[in-house]
Amino acid sequence: MVQDLRSLNMEEMGIISDKLGVPRYRAQQLFHWVFYKAVSDIDQMTNLPKLFRMSLKESYYISNILVKNKQVASQDNTTKLLLQLEDGETIETVLMNYENRNHQRDRATVCISSQVGCKMGCVFCATGLSGWKRNLTVGEIIGQIMAAQSISQIAVRNVVLMGMGEPLLNFDNVVKAVRLMNHEDGLDIGGRRITISTCGLVPQIMKLAEEGLSLVLAISLHGATDSVRGELMPINAKYPLKELIKACKYYVEKTGRRVTFEYALMKNINSSVKDAEHLGRLLAAVNCNVNLIPINPVVEAGFIRPSVQEIDRFKKVLEVMGVNVNIREEKGTDIDAACGQLRSRSLK
Ligand code: SAH
Ligand code: SF4
Repeated sequence: MVQDLRSLNMEEMGIISDKLGVPRYRAQQLFHWVFYKAVSDIDQMTNLPKLFRMSLKESYYISNILVKNKQVASQDNTTKLLLQLEDGETIETVLMNYENRNHQRDRATVCISSQVGCKMGCVFCATGLSGWKRNLTVGEIIGQIMAAQSISQIAVRNVVLMGMGEPLLNFDNVVKAVRLMNHEDGLDIGGRRITISTCGLVPQIMKLAEEGLSLVLAISLHGATDSVRGELMPINAKYPLKELIKACKYYVEKTGRRVTFEYALMKNINSSVKDAEHLGRLLAAVNCNVNLIPINPVVEAGFIRPSVQEIDRFKKVLEVMGVNVNIREEKGTDIDAACGQLRSRSLK
């Protein structure tokens, strides 16, 4: 069986160079071609000896990701890609440009997937509604960054694992991919510029805290009491809020990094002043930021956004209670922006 070079780290490439009888610096060159130059074929690695390339090709290759569909939002250039993997499965990757203080778009963020589909079943989420297929390989996780970079004029500087799937259910591949992103001879994206978003898997959050990655951890909260959250996110039955908050505090303590809480506002569900007060109390003793996101309506789910006034009121209540809170800048609202929407449309 041939192995994907995009799934291998420097150490493993070193073992290959030993095995094939070339000096160790060849492994560094190989790594550079795969993760820095992002070539799609071993034959493009022109400074490697032909014989080495030929023996490499017997057991290794570079996985191919196909851009199957592309939607560009008119107002901010947010680009949503439907990518086809080698087994025909499809995933979504989103490229976003943010403005700096001078209104220049000078940095790109890519939102990548970690699984084909998702088995967590959150009721507001298009991905959750379409079921689960499989984990992504390390090469498929990294390959999304390369696919996005290939269509972006601006360098991709930030990565968020907020596309399809639950990253902490694909723990080993995600952690290996993050270390590969970090590597300075390759993509060189530091931990502080990588966000992992989870629905709240307590044991995996504790485990992630031990990895020494200095990532941004984002928790999808969406409800501040077990009854509200439990209706929206089935995982809350297994890991209720008390345990989740305890794990978050542990993460902060272990890593010295603040946790981000994502809270999608849904009219008549979780957006009242009372809800805001519950949230403020829940997070009172956690070193965190809260991102308020007006829900992206997914037709099948039937949730709607609160009014701008209601959102502002919700934010004010939190501010008065001393919580760091932002309303998330919206991206690509005129395309199928909610996670999983583009894919579920293409499957129909
Ligand atoms: N499974 C992980 C990461 C992928 S989802 C998680 O749940 O955190 C990425 C983010 O999009 C999560 O915060 C998720 O709750 C949010 N999300 C899903 N559907 C949404 C919708 N319709 N509107 C707004 N945010 C949504
Ligand atoms: Fe899965 Fe996250 Fe969607 Fe929940 S919100 S179904 S965990 S992708």
